[in-house]
Amino acid sequence: MIVTRFAPSPTGQLHVGNIRTALHNALLARKAGGRFLLRIDDTDAERSREDYVEAIRADLAWLGLAPNGEERQSARLAFYEQAFDRLKTAGRVYPAYETAQELELKRKILLGRKLPPIYDRAALELTDEDHARFADEGRAPHWRFRLDHEEAIAWDDGVRGPQHFDASAMSDPVVRRADGSWLYMLPSCVDDIEMGITDVLRGEDHVSNTAVQIQMFTALGAVPPRFAHEALMVGAEGKLSKRLGSTGVGDFRAQGLEPMAVNSLLARIGTSQPVEAQHDMAALADGFDLSTFGRAPARFDEAELLRLNAQLVHAMPYADAAPRLPDGMDEAAWLTIRPNLERVSDASEWWRVVTGPVAAPELSEEDAAFVHAAADAAEALDWNAEGGAWKALTDALKQRTGRKGKALFLPLRLALTGMDHGPDMHALLPLIGPDRAARRLRAGSPPAS
Ligand code: GLU
Repeated sequence: MIVTRFAPSPTGQLHVGNIRTALHNALLARKAGGRFLLRIDDTDAERSREDYVEAIRADLAWLGLAPNGEERQSARLAFYEQAFDRLKTAGRVYPAYETAQELELKRKILLGRKLPPIYDRAALELTDEDHARFADEGRAPHWRFRLDHEEAIAWDDGVRGPQHFDASAMSDPVVRRADGSWLYMLPSCVDDIEMGITDVLRGEDHVSNTAVQIQMFTALGAVPPRFAHEALMVGAEGKLSKRLGSTGVGDFRAQGLEPMAVNSLLARIGTSQPVEAQHDMAALADGFDLSTFGRAPARFDEAELLRLNAQLVHAMPYADAAPRLPDGMDEAAWLTIRPNLERVSDASEWWRVVTGPVAAPELSEEDAAFVHAAADAAEALDWNAEGGAWKALTDALKQRTGRKGKALFLPLRLALTGMDHGPDMHALLPLIGPDRAARRLRAGSPPAS
């Protein structure tokens, strides 16, 4: 049984990078018929907020990524305490007292000597008297995990292939602050073990954390899960933009995008598979394959997102669109308008033009006479002519008046829609229909004198 998890900290809104990670974990589990868990990493009581937890749930629900279970780290502090005690007994965590300034100074000295800035483990040399003295002075220690320098760190990464790390080239990580609060590393391992996580799939910014956590799993007597680290995401311009870092479900919704357009894009960018509009999660999960993920950053292109959205809208059944369509817009209208839309919400603009009322345009005398002729032509028109009513009307007028191009089309559009731009007239005119068309063209005509 495959079990994956998405583990956001509720200290802000999910951005598109988080969403991509969540989606991939959901797809990995779904493809294997496994479970996908949401783990709220809220050990930081100060920065975690309940409204963000709710926003995370709502965002996942909108995307169609509702998890099979939810856990919260703040409810699990006792488990972290137990694990910590075990590591303490085994000598795998140790107290240290250096201040941030002292550590920074050590770093600078090492860097000045062109040495890697690895923590020197000075705290391991402290005697019982030293500890007693610190306690007398009221100085509480923070705690570091003691890496085993003899134990080779290696894993076969689901995206990056075989990985090797030398523990002696790494600093023993701080796992607990002096005030007793937890840093991310240890609670995450404890949870992954107790929740039976089989696959940890996350961004490549976590690769060195994985090296440390593999030793934590072992120190806690567990077999580490499989790990995969995907390349990070960049904007279309090839950079990790600020804007991308703050784009989330709220923006997608405001733009009228379909969740499956977002999912279709995020599931495939950065892989060797083509980006295609998929209508449901099952289809996306079917094709999900970590071995197709590349090492180069995934490019998130909003133009591509809109293209996928349009493809989904063009195939969307009326029943799916209906709750979001303007009153009175029926299936026939939807099917006619649908191929012209990038978003479902664009339908209302079309529908307003179809049903009217439209403002009668101010036309030059010449254009008004032309539109008058157009009203006659519209009344005599074969509305079922091959090539469509718009073609029949403009062909007839071209012949009769010699007008072409903008001089032909613009006055007609103005009179028929009240606007100088808008939906394609080929599709629009049949919906406006003969009566409304004739009436609008007459309204643009010069008053009969
Ligand atoms: N809360 C961690 C983060 O958001 C989770 C990382 C992980 O997937 O283990 O970075």
